Amino acid sequence: MGSHFQTVVDLDATPADAPSLAARGLAWLVAEGIVRAERTDCVLGAPLGHPPGPLWTKAVRHRDWEPHDGLNIETGPTVFHGGQGDAMYAACPHCAAHVDLYTDEWEEVEGAWEPFEKAIGTWCDTGRAAVACPRCGRAGDLAAWNWESDHYAFGHLGFEFWDWPEFGTGFLEGLARALGGHRTVLVAGKL
Ligand SMILES: [Zn+2]
Repeated sequence: MGSHFQTVVDLDATPADAPSLAARGLAWLVAEGIVRAERTDCVLGAPLGHPPGPLWTKAVRHRDWEPHDGLNIETGPTVFHGGQGDAMYAACPHCAAHVDLYTDEWEEVEGAWEPFEKAIGTWCDTGRAAVACPRCGRAGDLAAWNWESDHYAFGHLGFEFWDWPEFGTGFLEGLARALGGHRTVLVAGKL
């Protein structure tokens, strides 16, 4: 059995304010009783994380099971992705045209990834990159492109929860409010 994760990515956090926003988000999660302030060995890929708090059920849509792992907070330029699988297409932030990355048979569309791969490299180095839309010709911020099933998000702050039941919309809105009303996206998947 693999590990499931749900990551709330703050799309508006800048490199400069990501650490203070991380602290603000965590303070809200602790005050709500959703996670504990202390850190234990409870997350994959990070030495320590915040275990579920006494009121974790407030965060989830259904109490399908008890979350068995905790929260890891990522700061710094990060390519958040949904783990297994991939995005079939990316959609232009201006005209919503789909750029197909794979065929229906999941074969890579030749050359389709190239501009995105280049932009991802630039974004990791500099925190900014754009990809021109083949349909409308306008340059769209890499972080503003929409990916099928929200498979990718490019950001400087992510709240990564391991093995929790599906989050409810009220919780996601509450966390976004705690982050100053920032735009957030939920990247979920399995490793
Ligand atoms: Zn476009």
